[in-house]
Amino acid sequence: MAPKAAAIYARISSDPDGLAAGVARQIEDCRAFAERRSWPVAETYEDNDVSAYSGRRRPDYERMLDDLAAGIRDAVIVYHLDRLHRRPRELEDFLDLCDRMGIRDLACVTGEIDLGTHDGRFHARILGAVARKESDDKSRRLIRKHLELATAGKVSGGGTRPYGYAKDRVTVIPEEEAIIKEMAERLLAGDSLRSIAASLNDRAVPTVTQRDWTTHSVRQLLYSARVSGQRERLGEIVGKAVWPAIIKPAHTTRIRALLNDPERRTNRVARKYLLAGLLRCGKCGTTMVSRPRSDGRGRYVCTRDPGRDGCGGTFILADEVDAFIADAVIHRLNTPRLVASMRRRGNDDPAVASLIEALDHDQEQLDELATSYGDKEISHREWLAARAPIQERIKAANAMLNRRQRTTALTGILDHPQGVAEAYETLPLARQQAVIKAVLDRVEIGPAVHGRNRFDPLRISPVWRV
Ligand SMILES: [Zn+2]
Repeated sequence: MAPKAAAIYARISSDPDGLAAGVARQIEDCRAFAERRSWPVAETYEDNDVSAYSGRRRPDYERMLDDLAAGIRDAVIVYHLDRLHRRPRELEDFLDLCDRMGIRDLACVTGEIDLGTHDGRFHARILGAVARKESDDKSRRLIRKHLELATAGKVSGGGTRPYGYAKDRVTVIPEEEAIIKEMAERLLAGDSLRSIAASLNDRAVPTVTQRDWTTHSVRQLLYSARVSGQRERLGEIVGKAVWPAIIKPAHTTRIRALLNDPERRTNRVARKYLLAGLLRCGKCGTTMVSRPRSDGRGRYVCTRDPGRDGCGGTFILADEVDAFIADAVIHRLNTPRLVASMRRRGNDDPAVASLIEALDHDQEQLDELATSYGDKEISHREWLAARAPIQERIKAANAMLNRRQRTTALTGILDHPQGVAEAYETLPLARQQAVIKAVLDRVEIGPAVHGRNRFDPLRISPVWRV
């Protein structure tokens, strides 16, 4: 027999930000459920801002129990069982009451439970136990809450304050703001996470927890959407936040593209080789890899290893070709005409400006979509579908931007008072590599001439970008 006067019960454990949306959403889902089952809803009971296990009284829960005991409600719908009971004892009392009153219909949005059967009661107890352990249910609830917060752009989370912001998580700390800007600038200019961390530690710049900076903490900070004033959920940027941005959203997009670049991750070992990834075998055209000789001396080789299509016929010692190319690059950077052309391609480039504008526009569209999804104007599937082409555009624009903005690697080099060579020498390896890549497309390495054992510059043919 279908119930005639169902009760909906909703509860939120804690609501420090005063967002009642959690309860509103539970009720909405419960109503939708009642509608599908054609259960008439007689009353909605809700307790808000009540801590889950504190034992504080829940006035509406008690009112609902009274109504059930009075026989004027004959079914209960909850978003999830963990909303209904805080302790197993409560569940048992509830089951006793339902028994007495002949109430069989308890429904969770995730499924019905027939309290009239042994299995149903067992099911309810299991769910109660799971809720108590707060295992996956807690994360499900938190995900939902965080999505609400995320789309509302509100501040969430406790614990340590985020770097760059005060304890209120909104006020910007000027000294840390400057550090974040510097870190982002250096990363985008081609600096490695390692050397950024090292430079901060050298200058005794403290982290929030007064520890040393690590590649991990630098990466985490720069990867976060927070520093560009955006909310994220499960790694996805879902909209503008209430706190101010320290770097531009377009920079976060570029930083993420950079840090996600697979070449960056797989080439870690090769990083101590200045020209890693830039040398091509003159015989077969394959990219040469760094492989030290048995005496430990650095060397680039064309290899026939599985997964590489090399011919295995070309080798060159690393220090010789590295020094030769570095000299050539510095020489090239000293050419006035080249410098002028690099400057033209910098940020004044109208193509770059319009790319950045397009990126910002797409980012705004993503924000709007996330808001629509948060407000339930569109479904999850619609959200994903609408997002895909925008994300593709962002990816393409970023790739173009990265190509055009290789010149950012030259920031500070061309204007260095001591000259290009001096500036280059003081850079960490990753920055030197970025400088080289800004002007050099690749280097073709010709075969060694038999009998000529000494370094042979004729084997080296640089192919310049500019
Ligand atoms: Zn080869």
